[in-house]
Amino acid sequence: MATKALSSLPSVDRLLSCELATPLIEQFGRATVKTAFRRILDDARRAENQDVPDEATILALAGDLLAAESAPSLRPVYNLTGTVLHTNLGRASLPQGAIDRVAAVAAEPSNLEYDLTSGQRGDRDAHIERLLCEITGAEAATIVNNNAAAVLLVLNTFAEGREVIVSRGELVEIGGSFRIPEIMTRAGARLREVGATNRTHARDFADAVGPDTGLIMKVHTSNYEIRGFTHSPTETELAGIAAGARVPLVNDLGSGTLVDLTRFGLPPEPTVQAALTAGADIVTFSGDKLLGGPQAGMIVGKRALIERVKSNPMKRALRVDKMTLAAMFEVLKLYRDPASLPAHLPTLRWLSRPVEAIEQVARELLPALESALATHASVDIEPCHGQIGSGALPLEVLPGYALVLTPNQGTDSQLQDIAAALRTLPRPVIGRINDGKLYLDVRTIETPADFVANLESLKLT
Ligand SMILES: *Cc1c(COP(=O)(O)O)cnc(C)c1O
Repeated sequence: MATKALSSLPSVDRLLSCELATPLIEQFGRATVKTAFRRILDDARRAENQDVPDEATILALAGDLLAAESAPSLRPVYNLTGTVLHTNLGRASLPQGAIDRVAAVAAEPSNLEYDLTSGQRGDRDAHIERLLCEITGAEAATIVNNNAAAVLLVLNTFAEGREVIVSRGELVEIGGSFRIPEIMTRAGARLREVGATNRTHARDFADAVGPDTGLIMKVHTSNYEIRGFTHSPTETELAGIAAGARVPLVNDLGSGTLVDLTRFGLPPEPTVQAALTAGADIVTFSGDKLLGGPQAGMIVGKRALIERVKSNPMKRALRVDKMTLAAMFEVLKLYRDPASLPAHLPTLRWLSRPVEAIEQVARELLPALESALATHASVDIEPCHGQIGSGALPLEVLPGYALVLTPNQGTDSQLQDIAAALRTLPRPVIGRINDGKLYLDVRTIETPADFVANLESLKLT
């Protein structure tokens, strides 16, 4: 930077006519480049006694500014938090087949709501309904934007202006402000809590049923567990009470898996099929939790009930787009052959990854990480425990391995600096800070060479 008087600052017009401005204008457009020049000139005027930038400096600053601002804000990161289905980090990662189908329908017109046989208007749910019914054993199915929307829509369809009977022990709050009592109010339904926090009996439900009852609801207490002196009625008991009252039994499974997870060495989680067999008339669950698909809310159950859900005008406001349908079809198809799921579905592959394989990745990455952190931190390999995330099995832990970074000065500020530097990498690295150390749980790293290449850009001061 040259030291000059403010009066020596070039004008915006002069900067725009510079030869070096031409490529910027071609890439970003004249108006955007002009705004960038204005901002840099304004900054220079405001910073009165500082060095006044010359033309070449302003052009370079504008190039940096424009490049930074045109970089996508939403981009891939390394999720090394140990929580595989991390809501803040995008939950499930899609299989390649699904990504390809998304690209195909995004690029061209599609038969989204068009029946190719009759040439008439079609139903967008039809693209996944048959497959979803085949896998779950349900009579009918529909899909909305997420499971919160699914719950809202079901409550509104069957219980607007009426009561919904729920156990006191199941009034959950899912992270990010989804609370069963609040969603119920928004759906226009009245909450009728029964039982006590730890114990609810079938007779509590039976006693609460009346002419105002809209539905009976069971909610998977995803992210917490009540242990000790507890009781809840069986699903079969609830189904009997609901049938007697001629109202639907709705089971919000939350994560809702379509396979028995124990076959992959994971703890058991209620399946959608089991919930239907146990007597639920409607089951709702997420598309991007254990299912491993795109963000969506699935509603499956009795045909007559699903028809009513579909004809609720709110369905129109909560419907999914063609990209979600394209991805969901490919993900659901994988469930026809459960044995090969880990080979194709990243979420299940990471969750069921053998601990030796994770340790191997940690060993492979150790030298590169040690040299990148040089004098700033020491790196050790330690066994650790990850979790599934998104409310599934909150107390179950996934044995794995982490690279553990200990700052050499032992201060929190140095630790924060290292964590921040890792977040500024081309593909940001997100770990978990605990007890003065940064844990990088490597469960989700499948190509160590890419991780090492990314690490080469690390800048620590
Ligand atoms: C996660 C969850 C929801 C909300 O699902 P989203 O797909 O995140 O909208 C609702 N109910 C339960 C029990 C859940 O676990």
